[in-house]
Amino acid sequence: MKRRTFNFLTRGFLIGTCMVGLGVVLDFIGCKSQNESKNKTQNESKMEIIKENFGTTAEGVTVDLYTLMNNNGMIAKITNYGGIVTSLLVPDKNGNIDDVTLGFDNLQAYLDGHPYFGCIVGRYGNRIAKGKFELDGVEYKLATNNDENHLHGGEIGFDKKIWDAEPVENEKGVGLKLHYVSEDMEEGYPGNLDVTVTYMLTDENELKINYEAAINKPCPVNLTWHGYFNLTGGKENILNHEMEINADKYVVVDETLIPTGELRDLIGSEMDFTSPKTIGSRFDKVPGGYDHTYIINKSSSEIDLVARVYEPTSGRVMEVYSTEPSVQFYTGNFLDGSLTGKNEIVYKKQSGFCLETQHFPDSPNQPGFPSTILKPGEKYSQTTIYKFSTK
Ligand code: BGC
Repeated sequence: MKRRTFNFLTRGFLIGTCMVGLGVVLDFIGCKSQNESKNKTQNESKMEIIKENFGTTAEGVTVDLYTLMNNNGMIAKITNYGGIVTSLLVPDKNGNIDDVTLGFDNLQAYLDGHPYFGCIVGRYGNRIAKGKFELDGVEYKLATNNDENHLHGGEIGFDKKIWDAEPVENEKGVGLKLHYVSEDMEEGYPGNLDVTVTYMLTDENELKINYEAAINKPCPVNLTWHGYFNLTGGKENILNHEMEINADKYVVVDETLIPTGELRDLIGSEMDFTSPKTIGSRFDKVPGGYDHTYIINKSSSEIDLVARVYEPTSGRVMEVYSTEPSVQFYTGNFLDGSLTGKNEIVYKKQSGFCLETQHFPDSPNQPGFPSTILKPGEKYSQTTIYKFSTK
């Protein structure tokens, strides 16, 4: 497939569409010819964003895939189906680029069902006990899609919605702004919720995610992003990744992963990642693997370090920063080898890990937890950054 270069910073936002096709139509937001791009000076920006057709849903809706590239050659591919980041191509210590996220290279595989690979999760990321909560004297019933509990927004959560997409750029990077309006009582949640999620790929090798929302009736809102990472690029499992999590406490859960209400000190236990430890170092003491909410040690700054992950063979480092109070550290325990993803990689237990920044699970039923209720007139605003480097 021929590709042409689009350059935001030096060309501006060109109106018009370049059609290039070999079966697939590439819809460029702006474009210039390959001859022109050969004449680029060294200082010229390489940032680009390309839009192409990613397929059609069973209902006949066309879905797009946006390829974002920064000046270091880091690439993020994002579809407006579920706001899924399908690929994140990141250099290793020798400059070799690998895809460090789990996912698929075609829409159909996502439509066929998957364990929330790379998607936006909402209205409520994580579990709500028995799929119900009470608010202002009214009981609301939600789907029980995880045994007796509600998980990740229900049957058709934000991960399965088609979002309006708009390419964006600023001096730091290129991005994709996604917008969705969730109507009153969708999946049982009250109020019309207007959500905007903006992904930015910056020249600091960051994937920066901004969440904004507003509502016309009170409702619990807990948005997150469910990327699965493997910093070897899928060459090995994640057990030798060195993990550090900036948390002295975690949320204790019962056997159905619903909080008991206890927030427990973890220092010195198998849950302790306050100094770097390989993910696998104490796996024998954590039946089933990690699937726990770590409470971030908050400083006075708005955005705090959540976690730092180092993978020794590639030298890749990923740091996570967030405004959120906690992170779900999940080690892909329910991957069972039944899905084959990009590059023919079979996804087995511990093929990937997630660091989902969010509020605590089941907060609507836990008066002692920080509130997740968004009220009319309030602005929901959260930011999480996944920053890549090497050492
Ligand atoms: C949860 C897991 C769940 C997974 C679904 C994670 O956020 O913590 O318990 O199985 O999502 O893929």
